[in-house]
Amino acid sequence: MWLADAVAANVVKYFSTTSQRPELVFIHLPDVDIAGHASGWMSDDYRSAVLRVDAALDKILQRIQASYGTDVTIIVTADHGGINFSHDNALNESRQIPWIAWGRGVHTQIIASPVRIVDLAPTVLWLLGVSVPTNIDGSPVTQAFQAPGAAGALHAASLRDAASLATAGTH
Ligand SMILES: [Zn+2]
Repeated sequence: MWLADAVAANVVKYFSTTSQRPELVFIHLPDVDIAGHASGWMSDDYRSAVLRVDAALDKILQRIQASYGTDVTIIVTADHGGINFSHDNALNESRQIPWIAWGRGVHTQIIASPVRIVDLAPTVLWLLGVSVPTNIDGSPVTQAFQAPGAAGALHAASLRDAASLATAGTH
């Protein structure tokens, strides 16, 4: 299993060397969950893992900003919290997680209504301009963005630009 330091190094290497602009990148930093199970949530080992992941995230964000500036949307979240050595779905320590959006199209605010983990996938689909299936749980967190569809519209515009460039390149 790759831990945060190795993941960050590989992500930084990828964004430093690729000539492609990916539409979607999913980055998983597992250290905090591993430390929680091994040593307990809020233990010294857990807190060290939080610092390692924070430092890794800083390296990743700096690299992404060096490549794309603010013309990128980043969502940072977790799949669950924990208490003692595991997860207890009945307790807020396991159920409440951060959900942070930053960058293109983001409306800077604290969202008053709860955001659920099942809202993440529909939000990403919405940002990509992909139709959100009606038979999945969750719904796009549109209130996190400047206007309904704003980020999607920006995305569609950039896709059109890319298509124009691709078309121009074949002539
Ligand atoms: Zn776990």
